[in-house]
Amino acid sequence: MAYNVGVRAGGGLIPDHYEEIRKLNTIGFAELNLAPEILKALAESGYTTPTPIQAQAIPLVLEGCDLMAGAQTGTGKTAAFVLPMLQKLLPHASSSASPARHPVRALILVPTRELAIQVEESVKTYAKHCKLRSLVVFGGVDIKTQTPHLKTGVEILVATPGRLLDHIEMKSVQFNQVQMLVLDEADRMLDMGFMPDLKRILALLPKQRQNLMFSATFSNEIKKLSAEFLTKPKLIEVARSNATAENVTQKVYLVEQADKHVLLAQLLRGSDASQVLVFTKTKLTAGRLAKQLQKEGVAADAIHGDKTQLERIKALDAFKQGTVTVLIGTDVAARGLDIDQLPMVINYEIPRAPEDYIHRIGRTGRAGASGKAISLVSPEEEKYLKEIEKLIKCEIEKETAIVPRHAAKSERAPRGEHPERSHAPRSEHPERSRGPRPAAPKKSSHDPWFDKPYEPSGSATPVKQPDQPESKPKKEVAAIFVRRPS
Ligand code: AMP
Repeated sequence: MAYNVGVRAGGGLIPDHYEEIRKLNTIGFAELNLAPEILKALAESGYTTPTPIQAQAIPLVLEGCDLMAGAQTGTGKTAAFVLPMLQKLLPHASSSASPARHPVRALILVPTRELAIQVEESVKTYAKHCKLRSLVVFGGVDIKTQTPHLKTGVEILVATPGRLLDHIEMKSVQFNQVQMLVLDEADRMLDMGFMPDLKRILALLPKQRQNLMFSATFSNEIKKLSAEFLTKPKLIEVARSNATAENVTQKVYLVEQADKHVLLAQLLRGSDASQVLVFTKTKLTAGRLAKQLQKEGVAADAIHGDKTQLERIKALDAFKQGTVTVLIGTDVAARGLDIDQLPMVINYEIPRAPEDYIHRIGRTGRAGASGKAISLVSPEEEKYLKEIEKLIKCEIEKETAIVPRHAAKSERAPRGEHPERSHAPRSEHPERSRGPRPAAPKKSSHDPWFDKPYEPSGSATPVKQPDQPESKPKKEVAAIFVRRPS
């Protein structure tokens, strides 16, 4: 597997309190001093060698160091903290049924429910031969269903901050035995306004503990957070800060906003990718695109904050199993999705925050696989594209897509109210009731295709099953592509 191996190389980004680590990935799992129970689970998962972040992080965590790890999604960062965590908690493993023998010893805080579920699934996989219990708690589901499980006692608790605070208020969880704290995707937690929640939670933990922080990007806020919560952290990094995965081919289509849906449909038809994740700026656009693509015979579904947790899990499962081939989501909803070998990501709208571009395209090209990231950029969005290129320090290949007028018109809906003006954007994480709300997205450019009243789709909306015959789009349309010299 080709990994984007790297260590923080000089530059002005390293605050004084970091001790820089320079170690390359030359070791195997057997040399990492992990217990046979853990090695057995790894072998059963088919892991043969540690990824660079694992090779660097595991020895340091076992030594008891605090860690600031710069790792993009798909680098194997979850195992990088879960494996040494299991190793350190193994002496406390117990088959006793008594809750008193299973206090929370490790707390993993993550920004989204989907990530919470995935991280806890990984914990269960790696801990399957250890007598250690784990549980995941997140909002959007009845809190009463989680409380009894918490009360039976768990050593490893994975949680989103808002729901954890609810449990704290209900006194269903105690933290006096917590010896390890992980802040996963810390940059995203800050973006989502979780800082006040984090401060409240961290104030309740024992002072004497090990802290591990993982972040894909190193903003000034992240450096401030690490200075506040970490003690003499070791810094490790497996990809250049703010760099995009090198095994992802990036491409931009310059296209009028009004023509994007036609181009997207064409790109999907022309692609041999088995799974495509499409990013939109709003929940509304995600829902509408999914419905439109379904009408055109594409097995599409949307994942966003207006869907219930069950609907989101169902959509994600269907996507993982291949019954849904195109999943459309907003940044928050799609954050943390770990879909093996996701071949393609399409940005229907590019993000305003350039860091989000890195997160988005990090969904593809995971664990060394290659991937494709396509962005549809309207003239109004070109200024955001410039910001992205500045951040990733490279110019993305561009083509201008010209969609013939008749083709675009044939797929447009009648005029009406602009959805993004008529529906105020709401928080993508309904479980979070505290802390500042994320900044409302700026108004997007006009897209007449969406000028019709919004009909919520719900998970009951049928999507095309792979064995159903593909209903042909009403009219075959073609965009004309003109390569832009860079
Ligand atoms: P993560 O970055 O933690 O989301 O992991 C990305 C993907 O890499 C997941 O599907 C993991 O199962 C997989 N993975 C993690 N560590 C290894 C490893 N050492 N060898 C092979 N695959 C791995």
